[in-house]
Amino acid sequence: DVPSLPAMLERSARRFPDRTALHFMGQTHSYRQLWQDVQRFAAALQKLGVKPGDRVSVMLPNCPQFVVAFFGASLAGAVVVNTSPLYVARELEHQLLDSGSETLIMLDAFYPRFQQVEVNLSSVRRVIVTGIQDALPFPKNLLYPLRERIQGHWTPVRVGGSVYQMQALIRSQAPRPQPVPIQPNTLALLQYTGGTTGTPKGAMLTHGNLVANTQQARAWLGDVQEGKEVLLAAIPFFHVYGMTTAMNMGVLLAATVVLVPNPRDIHMLLKLISEMKPTLFPGVPTMYSAINTHPDTPNFDLTSIRACISGSAPLPLETARRFRQITGGANLVEGYGLTEASPVTHSNPVEGEQHEGSIGLPLPGMYAYVAAPDGTPQPCGTAGELWVSGPNVMAGYWAHLEESEKALPVREGRTWLRTGDVAIMDEAGYFRIVDRQKDVIIAGGFNIYPREVEEVLYAHPAVLEAAAIGVPHPHRGETVKAFVVFRPGMQATPAELEAWCRERLSPYKVPRLYEVRPTLPKTAVGKILRRQLVQEEKDRLA
Ligand code: ATP
Repeated sequence: DVPSLPAMLERSARRFPDRTALHFMGQTHSYRQLWQDVQRFAAALQKLGVKPGDRVSVMLPNCPQFVVAFFGASLAGAVVVNTSPLYVARELEHQLLDSGSETLIMLDAFYPRFQQVEVNLSSVRRVIVTGIQDALPFPKNLLYPLRERIQGHWTPVRVGGSVYQMQALIRSQAPRPQPVPIQPNTLALLQYTGGTTGTPKGAMLTHGNLVANTQQARAWLGDVQEGKEVLLAAIPFFHVYGMTTAMNMGVLLAATVVLVPNPRDIHMLLKLISEMKPTLFPGVPTMYSAINTHPDTPNFDLTSIRACISGSAPLPLETARRFRQITGGANLVEGYGLTEASPVTHSNPVEGEQHEGSIGLPLPGMYAYVAAPDGTPQPCGTAGELWVSGPNVMAGYWAHLEESEKALPVREGRTWLRTGDVAIMDEAGYFRIVDRQKDVIIAGGFNIYPREVEEVLYAHPAVLEAAAIGVPHPHRGETVKAFVVFRPGMQATPAELEAWCRERLSPYKVPRLYEVRPTLPKTAVGKILRRQLVQEEKDRLA
């Protein structure tokens, strides 16, 4: 019932003006203050010449300025381009050029990366910088350790010319931007796809897409109350998964959103949970598993957590079970989605029947089926590509018409999104992801889904993380190679791992090669990057 994301924030601010909207390292913003800052910043952007439809890149970690930048740019009618703070200069350059952003909002500590490629970026007309300390009341020197952790080193940024200071811009304006019409089909966000496959492309997500997905995910959360929830925002907002299930969900529910500056610091995460008592904690499997195994976990009270949706990668059954135990019963349910669908399409209902090992049911308003290669529906129990349709599906890829047409076929009068994932639907309508189509390993003519091999490895008591990939083999085409990370203080030999797999997998699926690593490469949302492991193997063999 709201046409846009700013309208959603405005509604919460009107209904719960004094409720704490954001909590960041001891500093708080009420909904009233947040909405005022958003309006001031929108007015400032307009004054600087930002027009409706202009792209505004935002390169910030989870901090209050992210929320103000996102909603402020949206209110001015601009299209936000989510930009990963992990990008190196070359990636930043590619995304700024591909999206045609004229405005870049970034943490001052990231500015040197912009400077490295500035000569190629005459199209960027203004850079707006902000420091972590701008959001905080602490003396600056206390912040240096945090700043170090965020990016390693930092050079002060000289403000002037086309470089502006965000807080000064906000202070310079009254909270009265020029009204800009924002419809459900107005573009809100360009979200470049995560990069576990091919070249990044910008998925075009509209206000209608993002509002719909927040409401769809909320319906599956069960008994949540507006103005009462506390949401732990540990997953990054610069990925649409965190944006929808943490930031936008928080705003929709008028929840207190607890911003986590560095989710890799598990001790700090545990401390925040026991102090702030969040009720909702959307996350990714690697995060829950890190909490499960951290030595400090038993010293903290985690019982406030009621509901968690885990997405972005398969949730090992063991991880969900253990997390329920240590939180005294938090409902950790597996969901599924992809950037192109804003992103959530399926989830197990938090209150309702949950099927372990399944991604659950399509969210309200979604259509989903398992397709044969020609797009016709497959019967229950048969594997095929998952096709979905709904109000949360993107408008297309930015400036990639051909790719958009391939990804969004029209069938029987509906536009569908081809997910590229292999799924099976059971008789009850629950879906299970078998694997990604593009990661299937073909060994001796057999199709092997790496996820099946990984599940077996995860079940081994010594294994903390596992990844299986196909590596070239002279006779079989490919053979399976497993990468494992052991739990602290535990290990196993390759022969032991192989024997473990032999007992549980058909011979052709058993990995023949094993490599032990201290860590595995992951994306910004903590998803294990099989593609990088494949590339490393290729480079090693070349
Ligand atoms: P790219 O868009 O380049 O393929 P990416 O995988 O990081 O990169 P995202 O949109 O971030 O793109 O992730 C979507 C993918 O994540 C899905 O297509 C699916 O393969 C995987 N995924 C998400 N949730 C789950 C889940 N619960 N189980 C298994 N896989 C999942």
